[in-house]
Amino acid sequence: MRIAVFAGDGIGPEVTGEAVRVLEKLGLPNLELVEGDVGGAAYRKHGHPLPEATLDIARSADAILFGAVGDFDLDHLERHLRPEQAVLGLRKELGLFANLRPARVFKGLEGLTSLRPEVAQEIDLLIVRELNGDVYFGEKGMRRLEDGRRQGWDMMSYAEDEVRRIAHAGFKAAMTRDKKLCSVDKANVLETSQLWRDVVIEVSKDYPEVELAHMYVDNAAMQLVKNPGQFDVVVTGNLFGDILSDQASMCVGSIGLLASASLAEGSFGLYEPIHGSAPDIAGKGLANPMATILSAAMMLRHSFGLEAEAVRIEEAVAAALADGIKGGDLGGSAGTVEIGDAVLARL
Ligand code: NAD
Repeated sequence: MRIAVFAGDGIGPEVTGEAVRVLEKLGLPNLELVEGDVGGAAYRKHGHPLPEATLDIARSADAILFGAVGDFDLDHLERHLRPEQAVLGLRKELGLFANLRPARVFKGLEGLTSLRPEVAQEIDLLIVRELNGDVYFGEKGMRRLEDGRRQGWDMMSYAEDEVRRIAHAGFKAAMTRDKKLCSVDKANVLETSQLWRDVVIEVSKDYPEVELAHMYVDNAAMQLVKNPGQFDVVVTGNLFGDILSDQASMCVGSIGLLASASLAEGSFGLYEPIHGSAPDIAGKGLANPMATILSAAMMLRHSFGLEAEAVRIEEAVAAALADGIKGGDLGGSAGTVEIGDAVLARL
């Protein structure tokens, strides 16, 4: 289990430090941790946010635990040298095509969501978003029409193999959960979505145990706030997933609790909290490390097949929250190390 730890900027080192303590506490026999520089920290040391040496570490690892990148002092740099390019570069170089974002309301935190507590407490879902295709990566441009008006255009498309592999990722994730998959598209209007739906149905034949449903994206946006308890795993394209995953995040409350995974084909993945480098609280010991600790749990589940250990970590976090251990982002006063200690004590 060779894990690359890329802590990055701001609160990145603080939160990954706590996640590493949790991993070490599990006493896994083959655990090997290798650190690498990314983001603004890497730029200051090596002149690039994703140096070749870091990429080498990434390629030699079985999984990456990623903190956060972002440094407002470097925002004047050319785009390809900005800290955030580290994430985009890793996605591209490592073929990370499936983004997994779980959303769950922990006991005791029902009051922090933007939904009514009785609706929010039902949320326990996972959004699987395609990352490499769709309208973001199609041909695009700005042009002048014959009558002189300016026009912007972006081509939306998916090839069937791109849909097939993300569909497999969705079904596989559903197999580790309640075996329900909802595929979200806009097949009533878009040809891209019609192909998406056809291919998802074809792939479903390989997973007879999983109950498959289809939903139009506009309805999915409504259902996410009306009756989110109906969802187990949601699989969708890049554009719809971008929007729905942020919406689902806010349905459960704080940014300091939200973990994510970006998976490649096979078992390789990059695991990171969804928050950024939080420069406003960096270095003060105030960051909530739970999102990163929960990302480490996802790593054990998806890259190493260690379901029991993943659940142990998730239950330890849930128990700490239920006992009132809350960071500032949750209206509490516990600091980074105190939260890490509380999770370790409950493992
Ligand atoms: P942010 O997520 O860093 O912070 C937003 C707010 O949430 C801040 O008030 C911050 O203090 C708070 N917050 C975030 N994580 C927290 C935690 N674990 N515990 C407690 N409070 C927490 O977003 P931002 O301020 O918009 O961006 C800061 C930098 O991070 C920017 O440079 C941005 O580009 C970058 N960024 C990076 C990633 C990434 O690495 N994947 C993601 C988002 C933003």
